Amino acid sequence: MTNPSPWRATVLTLFPEMFPGPLGVSLAGRALASGLWQIEARDIRASATDRHRSVDDTPAGGGPGMVLRADVLAAAIDAAEIAPERPRLLMSPRGRPLTQARVTELAQGPGPLIVCGRFEGVDQRVIDGRGLEEISIGDYVLSGGEIAALALIDACVRLLPGVMGKEASGTEESFSDGLLEYPQYTRPQLFEGVPIPATLTSGDHAKVAAWRRAESEALTAARRPDLWEKAANRRSGQKSPKNKTDG
Ligand code: SAH
Repeated sequence: MTNPSPWRATVLTLFPEMFPGPLGVSLAGRALASGLWQIEARDIRASATDRHRSVDDTPAGGGPGMVLRADVLAAAIDAAEIAPERPRLLMSPRGRPLTQARVTELAQGPGPLIVCGRFEGVDQRVIDGRGLEEISIGDYVLSGGEIAALALIDACVRLLPGVMGKEASGTEESFSDGLLEYPQYTRPQLFEGVPIPATLTSGDHAKVAAWRRAESEALTAARRPDLWEKAANRRSGQKSPKNKTDG
């Protein structure tokens, strides 16, 4: 590939051996091997300065666990020499929940720096001082930011030009229009006595599109009233709060 500066993820972690991990296989792995994107995992511990190479310390004010030290993490961020136009993210359960809209923005940019927390989290002063944008992948707590970073990178990489076999397969799926995807079927025509819905095998493209739309709407209304309300507001042209990261 003759791509001068492909999309690039720079990951700061205490466990660089976790990367590319699952992103080294299948769709993302083939794209990585062919140079459509790059990943650089940098060891936060390389920026530790004391004899024991310590990266964490007890929380000020007391309480359980340990906190990633501000000086060590800030030094690791500075050493990565991230170009100013690249987003600087911190995976964090306190962050704004990741959406397909934010993933699309990140995929269209040069690629982010991603800081992976561990222990009880990171010192607030480095979040503020280095302008880290906190991003969550859901309302549950992981033991570290690495799996969250892998999820974010995977969602971005599949949107990069040339990564997905068919360009179109990214545009007509869950969240792309604020709705969940319609049910999918393939052969065999009859499975455990259940046929594929007749409309889908009718060859009538307009009917198929209408069926899929109706199924998408019904699923979204039933499962995700939050998304359904936003979609309904958009349709009725009502003023909903403008939020760039809304799915
Ligand atoms: N004490 C913290 C949780 C720390 S979990 C709290 O209650 O908020 C350790 C690290 O795992 C975090 O610093 C973060 O980098 C990562 N992590 C955990 N859950 C996450 C989530 N839902 N989304 C993104 N990152 C998460």
